[in-house]
Amino acid sequence: MSDEYVDLSAEEQLELEAELSAFADDEAERLGLTERAHYVENVATTFTASQRPHTTLLVSGLSMAHDHLVCAALAGIGYKVQTMDVPDVAALQFGKEFGNRGQCSPTYFTVGNLVKHLIKLRDEEGVPAQQIIDSYVFLTAGGCGPCRFGMYVTEYRKALRDAGFDGFRVLTFQMAGGVRQATGEELGLKIDQGFAWQVVRSLIAGDCVNLIGYRMRPYEVIPGSTNEALEDCKTILADTFANNRSVMRALYRCRRRLRKVRIDRTQVKPVVSLIGEFWAMTTEGGGNYHMQAFLEKEGAEVDIQGITNWLLFMIWEAGWDTRRRETLRQDDEAKKGLAGKDAAKKQWLLKGGYYAIIALFNSYAKVLGLHDYHLPDMNHIATLAEKHYSNDVRGGEGHMEVGKLIHFVEDQVNHMTLSVKPFGCMPSSGVSDGVQSLITSKWPGAIFLPIETTGDQEVNAHSRVQMMLFKAKQKARAEYERALDETGLTEDEFKARVSNSRRWSRNFFRPKHKTASVVTNLVYAVA
Ligand code: SF4
Repeated sequence: MSDEYVDLSAEEQLELEAELSAFADDEAERLGLTERAHYVENVATTFTASQRPHTTLLVSGLSMAHDHLVCAALAGIGYKVQTMDVPDVAALQFGKEFGNRGQCSPTYFTVGNLVKHLIKLRDEEGVPAQQIIDSYVFLTAGGCGPCRFGMYVTEYRKALRDAGFDGFRVLTFQMAGGVRQATGEELGLKIDQGFAWQVVRSLIAGDCVNLIGYRMRPYEVIPGSTNEALEDCKTILADTFANNRSVMRALYRCRRRLRKVRIDRTQVKPVVSLIGEFWAMTTEGGGNYHMQAFLEKEGAEVDIQGITNWLLFMIWEAGWDTRRRETLRQDDEAKKGLAGKDAAKKQWLLKGGYYAIIALFNSYAKVLGLHDYHLPDMNHIATLAEKHYSNDVRGGEGHMEVGKLIHFVEDQVNHMTLSVKPFGCMPSSGVSDGVQSLITSKWPGAIFLPIETTGDQEVNAHSRVQMMLFKAKQKARAEYERALDETGLTEDEFKARVSNSRRWSRNFFRPKHKTASVVTNLVYAVA
């Protein structure tokens, strides 16, 4: 069979479509499908503006800082909001008990976490099930996949029904809006510019707090002092968002608090980038075997991926898809299609949004003391990845994981890359187990470890990480000794010079990037 396309005239196309439609009708008749109605899910999503004062929005699913700040930001625009605990192994068990078989582990963790929270309200705090159904709403992100992400909302509903909360409302951002329903009532969740601005700012502020924490904690002199300061920062920021005060001023107050943490950056630590599936690399609990805390305990500096990267990736995707749609023979009329829309204007708006997010992130980072942090350039990542993983493939992180790994090696960003790959994750299996083997054979300098996160193999996973981390530590040490050799400094001289200098021992000082580890860069800066 030839795989060449045949150009049909309009008349021939109509003829072909009529023939196909007649064939479909005949087949439906033959198989007895004509009377069968499509399955329509009975979805409870009514949340009206009049219910807002006595309805609590439950929020969860990101890092602890993000959940906390998003919650405060929504409270600042008039919602009653509550965060749930970080999903743990008990949540996974609830997910497995009430969810369908064969889901990916983030589905089990997140769905189970909601069920666990509601069961606790009902069984331990004595709130009647009907009252929970009437006065709580769960807010989450939705999507059409193409992986299991498209099934999350249905999974939530199935598990809630089986756990005794039939009719509990699970809302996605996509379902919300400021429009009026058939009843004429205004919707409870009003996603407008004010809502988006509040959420985006809280996510970016959460990123900056997390990033500076991961930068400082491995080098703290007094154990626990960074976390104490970070808790104060989260309180300052949450208070600011909840009362609609100046975020810049709050970040400056956080900077003054973080300045009090004593730091010693002359310790040799390997930098480990944590990448992989979005939820698994972001959560800080059983969903990734507490990987960030484990790596730090084992003597590494963790390079986390912020939510801002994800925002930039989504805008990049929209721009890419728009460019592809422009090449179609005719404008498509799907939801994201270009029929009746100005494609050039859309591109400019996307570009504006992309750079506005970068500018906002950079200004928050600068005020907080997070100097020289570079957000990934999405075009660059896409170009790096495209030879090995198509930029058109969607699901999970798309091509990002591949592009990031190449970027990490080429630009000496880290000593090791750890990819968390949830059990049952379709996109991650293709990337971490498939394409990345090709990348590591082409870039042999990469120390890459994919870890499957099932939720119940923590000891195994940690032991695999320890083995690979040993290599990363050796690499970091060799790099440091080479720098001392090249600069003619002894270790004692280097340490003495750093401790005697206010500039080099400042908490927020960031030596110019030359190699992955901060200590080696500091050697070059001192020399
Ligand atoms: S990317 Fe993987 S883990 Fe995440 S929702 Fe899709 S299938 Fe599940």
